[in-house]
Amino acid sequence: MSAAAYPSLEQARALDRADPLARHRAAFSLPEGVVYLDGNSLGPLPVETPKRVADAVSRQWGEGLVTSWNDAGWIDAPQRIGDKIAGLIGAAPGEVVVTDSTSVNLYKLIMAAAHIDPARTEILTEAGNFPSDLYVANGAARSLGLSLRVVERDALIDAISSATALITLTQVDYRSGYRHGMAALNAAAAEHGTRIVWDLSHSVGAVPLDLGKDRAELAVGCGYKHLNGGPGAPAFLYVAKHLQARLSSPIAGWFGHMAPFAFDGAYQAAAGISRFLAGTPPILSMIALETGVDSMRQVDRRALFEKSAQLFDLFAELAAARCPDLRCISPGDPARRSGHISFAHANAYEIVQALIARNVIGDFRTPDVARFGITPLYLRFEDVWLAVDALAEILEREIWREPQYAVRRAVT
Ligand SMILES: *Cc1c(COP(=O)(O)O)cnc(C)c1O
Repeated sequence: MSAAAYPSLEQARALDRADPLARHRAAFSLPEGVVYLDGNSLGPLPVETPKRVADAVSRQWGEGLVTSWNDAGWIDAPQRIGDKIAGLIGAAPGEVVVTDSTSVNLYKLIMAAAHIDPARTEILTEAGNFPSDLYVANGAARSLGLSLRVVERDALIDAISSATALITLTQVDYRSGYRHGMAALNAAAAEHGTRIVWDLSHSVGAVPLDLGKDRAELAVGCGYKHLNGGPGAPAFLYVAKHLQARLSSPIAGWFGHMAPFAFDGAYQAAAGISRFLAGTPPILSMIALETGVDSMRQVDRRALFEKSAQLFDLFAELAAARCPDLRCISPGDPARRSGHISFAHANAYEIVQALIARNVIGDFRTPDVARFGITPLYLRFEDVWLAVDALAEILEREIWREPQYAVRRAVT
């Protein structure tokens, strides 16, 4: 048993009373008694969402029928919500569009970017990238006849060369929460005349982003994590203005056409970011996403990221004092970490299951990572305290050894 002093529950509650963001919690429909530490995987339900989706179903669809494409703003939803997300990530209006899934958008941007300089032979990425991103990069490389070079994080910068057609990286590591510095890597790529396709899935809403200032040219990101857009929410795609006219989507669908309703037999790509649309947007899901994005836009984001760092520090301090068997694998440097904190333990799966049985919801990532989302919009310092308290008890009393916690479920 550690004798180290650690903050008390009362001290955590005092931090909540002083928290300028505390009122935002009421904007989410969180079940009573649940400590939700998985908002980095599936954000919770905003209170507004059922109302707005119900209105979209019964009034816009039910009464408006097809006229709602014009009258309820359905047709502009990908660009309208894209512009709202642009405001969250330091992009300009007209540089972001909401469409498809993150995986599909990544494919579109890799295929498009690879054609900028056909003399280049290689796509570069890092070994710890999110598996779906590795699969997509591999598949795209194969159909382009390029090789996929996969290196360790430390070797990335030295691996960039005049043969690099593009680099694809996820800014925030889904396991450790390690955050790449965007500006430095974009500059390193630009030195060799190439560019990075960033995946911002674990970044948007979780860490400060300034794509314009950091000279990012291409990015994709997810709508259902820190943006609280709902399960399977549409994703977004960013292309810097100066590059848009030089890129074409590998999926030339009618929504990416200059004039979809001209029903022209020949394809002509839309002038701007809209050329990356493919088919009809899923309007009900778009409206749910827009509601999540709207609630993120109302928040003072500087205060949000400050609170994120404080929640992280409290979690790390309590876990270090009370759970000595857990090894924190997230960076200590606030500039390198992000919206989740992760711990390695040989029995991380069982530990997470035992926590879920106590209404403390985190997740497990193979092979040995227990991961906890830090989402300052609705998390309280008290929640962090209670979560580590439950963790400490599960570890000290070896509750995780109970056989039901070893049963593997489809989604971890
Ligand atoms: C969540 C996530 C995705 C999700 O991709 P989908 O196509 O929506 O399933 C992709 N990449 C990263 C890095 C993610 O974290």
